[in-house]
Amino acid sequence: MSVQSLDISRRRFVASAGLAATAVCLVPHRLFGDEESLVLASRKAGETANITVQALRRNISALIGSGGNIAVLPGDDGKLIIDSGFLGTRGKIVEALSSLSPDPVKHLVNTHWHFDHTDGNEWMHSAGATITAHENTRKHLSTSTRVEDWNFTFPPSPAGAIPTDVFNADKTLHLNGATVALKYYGSSHTDGDVSAYFIQADVLHTGDTWWNGYYPFIDYSTGGSLDGMIRAAEANVARVTDKTVVIPGHGPVGGKAEMIEYRDTLATIRDRVAALKKEGKSVNEIVAAKPTATYDAKWGTGFVNGEFFTKLVYKGVG
Ligand SMILES: [Zn+2]
Repeated sequence: MSVQSLDISRRRFVASAGLAATAVCLVPHRLFGDEESLVLASRKAGETANITVQALRRNISALIGSGGNIAVLPGDDGKLIIDSGFLGTRGKIVEALSSLSPDPVKHLVNTHWHFDHTDGNEWMHSAGATITAHENTRKHLSTSTRVEDWNFTFPPSPAGAIPTDVFNADKTLHLNGATVALKYYGSSHTDGDVSAYFIQADVLHTGDTWWNGYYPFIDYSTGGSLDGMIRAAEANVARVTDKTVVIPGHGPVGGKAEMIEYRDTLATIRDRVAALKKEGKSVNEIVAAKPTATYDAKWGTGFVNGEFFTKLVYKGVG
């Protein structure tokens, strides 16, 4: 990337930074009449979402605003992209990608199967991308998959959207002069979550194992677990330094300090809910006790509010 385009990226980012908070998947939960419309409304919001480009290090950029955050590394091997966002933002993603370099899209990695991270798979594949993902991500995209907590059943994805380069634990990519370590978390947000770590640049994309400033969703229907989510948060903290730039699945780019706060928030709420459940309280009684109250102003403004998160935690504790 030229110095000039870096400057343009930065200016664009600064100019629209305030819009990042309105990213598609962060539409407040209370706006939806029921969980089914959460999926539909999120996709619809994708049509009006703004994409911001944030230049990070060594030519790596983050695209913020189309559902899950996207990382891009252009170069002679073709663009490497982490997550494909919503189909409704295709035009804006194409525009953002073109602003970075003329290289074609050649390599796409999915951090997990969720629609806000994979809706763009088919068009990116048709543009020339090979799709890499954990084998469980391929499994969920290949079949009809229901998410109970969204009250929504996703049909099988079109053939072009399904990852063809799958792995089981870890995989290393060597592209555009970078070494990119893909690492499987085990059961966490789903059963197919992987991170992508750009080693030389010290830039990590955590997928949805980290939500910066928002309560996370935990997808129990496809193998997610609360303890796994907290284990993943601990693993993320342990592997970064104060210098690592970290792209979360949702929310602004951040680093170790914010990841520690997130981990501690999850652990504290888990302990509060577990204690109430142990006393024999029902889920409704626990929601009424507002165990997240001290955190809601900061963490509950996305599509997982305090009540929804309390219900998710209740399901996940003994
Ligand atoms: Zn997700």
